[in-house]
Amino acid sequence: MIKIHNTLTKKIEEFIPIEPGKVKMYVCGPTVYNYIHIGNARPAIFFDTVRRYFEYRNYKVTYVQNFTDVDDKMIEKANAEGVEVKDIADKYISAYLEDTKKVNLKEEGMIRPKATDHIKEMIKSINILIDKEFAYESQGDVYFDVEKYNEHYGELSGQKIEDLKAGARIEVTDIKKSSVDFALWKSAKKGELSWESPWGKGRPGWHIECSAMSKKYLGATFDIHGGGQDLIFPHHENEIAQSKCSYGGDYARYWIHNGYINIKGQKMSKSKGNFFLLREILDDYEGKVVRFFMLSSHYRKPIDFSEVELNMAKSAINRIENSMLAMLEKFDTEISTEGRDGSELKIILENSKLKFIEAMDEDFNTAQAIGVLFELIKKVNKSMEEKINTDGKIILKEIYVFIKTILIDVLGVEIVIKKQIRDLSVELIDLIKEINIENPIKENKENITIELIEFLIEKRKIAKKDKNFALSDKIRDKMAKIGVKIKDGREKTTWTI
Ligand SMILES: [Zn+2]
Repeated sequence: MIKIHNTLTKKIEEFIPIEPGKVKMYVCGPTVYNYIHIGNARPAIFFDTVRRYFEYRNYKVTYVQNFTDVDDKMIEKANAEGVEVKDIADKYISAYLEDTKKVNLKEEGMIRPKATDHIKEMIKSINILIDKEFAYESQGDVYFDVEKYNEHYGELSGQKIEDLKAGARIEVTDIKKSSVDFALWKSAKKGELSWESPWGKGRPGWHIECSAMSKKYLGATFDIHGGGQDLIFPHHENEIAQSKCSYGGDYARYWIHNGYINIKGQKMSKSKGNFFLLREILDDYEGKVVRFFMLSSHYRKPIDFSEVELNMAKSAINRIENSMLAMLEKFDTEISTEGRDGSELKIILENSKLKFIEAMDEDFNTAQAIGVLFELIKKVNKSMEEKINTDGKIILKEIYVFIKTILIDVLGVEIVIKKQIRDLSVELIDLIKEINIENPIKENKENITIELIEFLIEKRKIAKKDKNFALSDKIRDKMAKIGVKIKDGREKTTWTI
């Protein structure tokens, strides 16, 4: 039984899907006006893991995550750079997909609607709200009438209309009926990106985007709505108000919100300058390390981000990979009719399976799930010190498959288990210097032997093409001396160490 901490009730509740065996979930996606920072990566990774876990538990998941590709910040950026809003959106959507691919987001079957492709649906929703008198037009804008909805407003965030009004700046304009009303449609300023509407040219407000898109792909009532904690108010509160008033239904049954990322105990923010882009981090760390780091804490807790933490994640993954490599070697090398059978290992495995599910069932406690994994690895390492018989090996193989499945399929951490390639990086870097070619590969990175070899082979190919046989032969001979044998095939050059 999967349990979820529901922001709506502030309780951990049993998850009961609307349709048995199916999960419909919507997660607020990025506003694509910049490269994403590590704080944006957290919901992307966490909710992808939620999806994967539901699938592991045999649910069929419909997963929608949108792109907000029009808003004030995007218009500002487009104006500043002298380009169209669409150019900004295209650039940062592909950057987002490129970055998130490296942290292994499961794209297969994911629905990724763009706000600008759904203007018609948004206008339709706004029209319904006006017809039902939950919204009003004012000087080309349309606002949601919060006081009309009144009694339920604040059910998610705990905000009270009276308090919000008291805290609001006194606005000189009389464009809105109340300071708490929010825009569903904004009239366009001259030259701004806009669409025709019954209220003149303009563009949608941010909140209505998610209401209209979730309705289209998931219906008026769906199972789970997710996002970062910072979206609870006003974004999600407003989504609920609009959606309930326009389409009826409950909107989302379960609301899941992930915590912040802190840097040295402080919330990460651009203005404080303690700000890291995901792609900067991915220059130095593999995606699996970033992903493992994120999942090592409970999603509702803030995470402290630092190099120390990333290095800890890295060595944790190393430990797992080494242990799995040792298992592989044990399968290959040890042939024995003597030694221990698999009965003890079998109990350890069955226990771990149960504990893993228990941890993940309890509000997706990935931190605890990872703990279960390490506990298992510790026990297996110990038992591998002794001889095991054929029967024991079968169980060991099952353990191997289990670890691989939960790491790669469920947690999305793409561990690599292969026999290590001898580290020749120092010799190869010297060789590159010796033949006087520029080395684009960062020397402080680990495991760069393969990269360096491929780079040299490419250089040799170019030299051959340029008929610089002196250089191409030199590269081949020097590499052979180091111990890398190059073989020219008909289509491809291969190498062995
Ligand atoms: Zn949203």
